[in-house]
Amino acid sequence: MIGVDFDNTIVRYDDLFGRVALDLGLVPPGAATSKTAVRDHLRAAGAEDRWTELQGVIYGPRMGDAALFPGVAEFFAACRAAGTPVAIVSHRTRFPYLGERHDLHAAARDFLARHGFHNDTGIALPADRVFLEETKAGKLSRIGALGCTTFIDDLPELLGDPAFPAGVRPILFDPEGIHTPPPGITTVASWAEVGRVLAEVRP
Ligand SMILES: [Mg+2]
Repeated sequence: MIGVDFDNTIVRYDDLFGRVALDLGLVPPGAATSKTAVRDHLRAAGAEDRWTELQGVIYGPRMGDAALFPGVAEFFAACRAAGTPVAIVSHRTRFPYLGERHDLHAAARDFLARHGFHNDTGIALPADRVFLEETKAGKLSRIGALGCTTFIDDLPELLGDPAFPAGVRPILFDPEGIHTPPPGITTVASWAEVGRVLAEVRP
């Protein structure tokens, strides 16, 4: 079983944080649009709560404006063709901590369905292979319980967590090249590269 994270690994948000922050009047026009720039701007303005609310909007009603990373669908289809089972394991609360009560689990499932993950003729990922865990601890124990041989995630702190299950190969997905590769963790910059690293599922 290959395990794959969801946000920022399958789903690419790009400048969506900047665009929505602008729409909501949280940042001035012309401000930097990256997720980190928006977060830093709101934190510096003492508006940590606005940052939390913004995440609830993006991971909820605005998910339709996010995209798949290039090569994700091809990777999942190649796994299916190779007979290699895949599961999606995400740390995502059902509702935002603050702000309007959007169902963030429903938004994630809708995103996958709209992008054809469950279509019989394509990826054909069973809906019960999508695990949305309320806590990081829940995510880590799910990765172990599923018997994953490999787990792909964009957060080095998740892959390097002391509770990350032993015997699971960690792969860091770092398309922007922003992390220094931690020891023992393979870093990749694209989904094509994931396929090359996992030779059995080369798309
Ligand atoms: Mg992630």
